[in-house]
Amino acid sequence: MQALLITIGDEILLGQTIDTNATWLGQELNLIGIQVARRITVGDELSVILDALSYGWTHYDLVIMTGGLGPTNDDITKKAIAHFFQVDMVFDQGTYERILRIFDRIGRPATEAHREQCYMPANAELLPNAMGTAPGMWFERDGHLLISLPGVPYEMKSIMTVSGLPRLKEQKGLIPIFHCTLQTAGLGESEIASRLEHVEAALPDHIKLAYLPSLGQVRLRLSAYGGKVEVREIEMDHFARMIHEALGQSIFAEGDTTLEAALGELLRSRALLLATAESCTGGAIAHHITSVPGSSQYYLGTLVAYHNALKIEKLGVSPTDLDIHGAVSEPVVRQMVQGAIQAFGADVAISASGVAGPSGGTPDKPVGMIWIAVGNDSEIRTRLLKLGKDRIKNIETTAVLAMNELRIWLLNHPEVKGKGILY
Ligand code: ATP
Repeated sequence: MQALLITIGDEILLGQTIDTNATWLGQELNLIGIQVARRITVGDELSVILDALSYGWTHYDLVIMTGGLGPTNDDITKKAIAHFFQVDMVFDQGTYERILRIFDRIGRPATEAHREQCYMPANAELLPNAMGTAPGMWFERDGHLLISLPGVPYEMKSIMTVSGLPRLKEQKGLIPIFHCTLQTAGLGESEIASRLEHVEAALPDHIKLAYLPSLGQVRLRLSAYGGKVEVREIEMDHFARMIHEALGQSIFAEGDTTLEAALGELLRSRALLLATAESCTGGAIAHHITSVPGSSQYYLGTLVAYHNALKIEKLGVSPTDLDIHGAVSEPVVRQMVQGAIQAFGADVAISASGVAGPSGGTPDKPVGMIWIAVGNDSEIRTRLLKLGKDRIKNIETTAVLAMNELRIWLLNHPEVKGKGILY
């Protein structure tokens, strides 16, 4: 089954809203074996919506539209649909009563616009919306399907999760799709590609390997189309094992776990307490680590020692080393790790100091030169990063690579155990 997605909204065309609806729908449909063959974004204009709908209906088995269903934009999508199917708009008393109950609960009167919102194309089957006032709509005719959903992402997701996707799963013609995701950090895309040449060469036609890079990380996704579950599972396992052998410790997870969650799990399972000392990353490492629910069990905190005086006073960095080597140097990041361990009573620590840019570089310390260090009070591992000129990218990449460095350090020091988790 092939689908066309139509996302509606002037704000998407203007670039003020990122089209996350289409991204989410693409992923979810793919998982149940529906291929999104095309995406179209149109503005809030009836004739253009109608054009897109006519095109989608003629060329695809399934059309999904999001946006233009709320009380604020004149029900433009519904008008286009009613016009397209040549049906009347009929008042849906059930939807109106639900809206009245919602407004009664919050102590505000429903407006005329809310009443207007309850007119639906006569051939619509309504999909309940637990998160808002506008229900989704399901249409079927001549073997084609149309689903119309509100634009608000959490409403759209709720309707699809509760009723849209389960109903779609029952349709004929779905090709099962199997995915296996391996997540890597610390290796560039081309390095990975060269290490996986033999895997690529061995892949049969029905299995594809995709590289999905982000800063400091690459997701590898094996996808197989069609076939028997048991056979595909064995094949996926086989190729996933080959990738593990080729990339070793660079793989931090299978599935959707984040790097910070993988690091957190290692720390928690070994009862290790972590602290960070950050200069150029300005708290970005702490932000990543604390984005994991339950990080309070193993994370003590960070010191953003941006100014050298703080590095000296709070982390015990030697003023002489700062004079001789400068803040962006190996001895300084080492001492920042030692200082964080002491100051916070941690078992292990991460530090970073560098020239984030875009200005401030010198010939011997250019923009993008960043030192990171990880370890405990007896062994510290340092690494020099040579990144680009973009400040935000440098900060983000450093945070990712620094967390990854500690993860690898921990894997290589299985004997290191900590003081116990925090509550
Ligand atoms: P309402 O009029 O009740 O707010 P609606 O169904 O008419 O809902 P829109 O008005 O088009 O939807 O959009 C509502 C909100 O959802 C806006 O903040 C908009 O930016 C956001 N939104 C709409 N479409 C998308 C999309 N494709 N991806 C992400 N956000 C979207």
